[in-house]
Amino acid sequence: MDKGCILVTGGAGFIGSNFVHLALSEGYRVVNLDALTYAGGSFVLNDLLRHPEHRFVNDRIENREVVDIILRQHAPSAIINFAAETHVDRSIDNPGIFVQSNVVGVQNLLDAAVRYQAGLADHESRSFRFLQISTDEVFGSIDGAAATEESPYQPNSPYSASKAAADHLVRAYHTTYGLPSLITVATNNYGPMQFPEKLIPLMILKAVRELPLPVYGDGGNVRDWLYVKDHCRAVLAVLEAGQPGGTYNVAGGNQASNLDVVRKICRSLDRRKVMTGGGSHEELISFVTDRPGHDRRYALDAMKLMTKLDWKPEADFETALEETIDWYLDTPDFWKPIIGSSYDGHRLGLGKPE
Ligand code: NAD
Repeated sequence: MDKGCILVTGGAGFIGSNFVHLALSEGYRVVNLDALTYAGGSFVLNDLLRHPEHRFVNDRIENREVVDIILRQHAPSAIINFAAETHVDRSIDNPGIFVQSNVVGVQNLLDAAVRYQAGLADHESRSFRFLQISTDEVFGSIDGAAATEESPYQPNSPYSASKAAADHLVRAYHTTYGLPSLITVATNNYGPMQFPEKLIPLMILKAVRELPLPVYGDGGNVRDWLYVKDHCRAVLAVLEAGQPGGTYNVAGGNQASNLDVVRKICRSLDRRKVMTGGGSHEELISFVTDRPGHDRRYALDAMKLMTKLDWKPEADFETALEETIDWYLDTPDFWKPIIGSSYDGHRLGLGKPE
């Protein structure tokens, strides 16, 4: 069944590409706008480029002319914005590009959406949606009860501050211009296609190469882990049935410290292969100076999404983590080019290409 066309931005990245696969399988036609930064990969696009209902446009969300042309030519019923600079460490080194993509880019998409909606016929205008993908990091470090959709924003890194700014713009465009916008705020994702700068794939690839596993501070920072496919189902549920102007938290319900997650990965690899010279991969763990402004704990209350839109996370953390490790071990074509790329340099520290 043809569910019409949607514009997905950032669909060559980790979550965006998983979402594009889901949307295509659900009968949507997808225009995918992505700048192909270091995080957007040709491997990720391989399957998608062969799909007859997928169109790829290599450009930036800040490009007003390109966004206007896409909207005019493809007449999508929704814009779903995954495009962003996403790595906290890089935002500490270079906040400017985060403001550029995550704030200026979102403002450009919002302006384009307002112009576009104004030209739609009544029935198309009523069903049009703008959906912004956000992060639990906007709430800052959580001491007690999990953050609800009403909790105050207290971002602590340039990354989370740029995402918070975008969320405020999205809400403001709803109240000021009546744009039917929605926001999903999700916890830490894991799963296939994640660029190996993020904790889980970085630790898998370092451990398998028997390199030191750098854990920030005492490793006690707690994150809630959400399987990417559960996140994508939540995004689709909000797109199809969310209340315009609303925000929906998406949580995996798997709180674990970074150290616990790294240990789980090590134990899983121990079961698959003995380290050179014997011993456990856990011996590779090395505590390093903490990240400045490192939030201690993130936690979201996803009750609204669960009760109003009947969504719940389906993945079991242990099983989905095993499957994720399998995927990285079985898919070197995804990460081997990254090891050899100039981006790798000193940052990923994954050693030399083979
Ligand atoms: P990612 O870094 O893997 O992918 C981002 C994609 O956006 C890349 O393909 C990149 O090329 C593209 N992009 C970046 N700047 C762009 C620009 N200016 N114009 C066009 N394309 C651009 O990120 P991800 O982990 O898939 O995250 C996707 C979204 O979900 C982000 O908005 C992020 O803030 C949010 N989010 C991520 C997580 C997580 O755990 N990864 C959790 C909650 C929310």
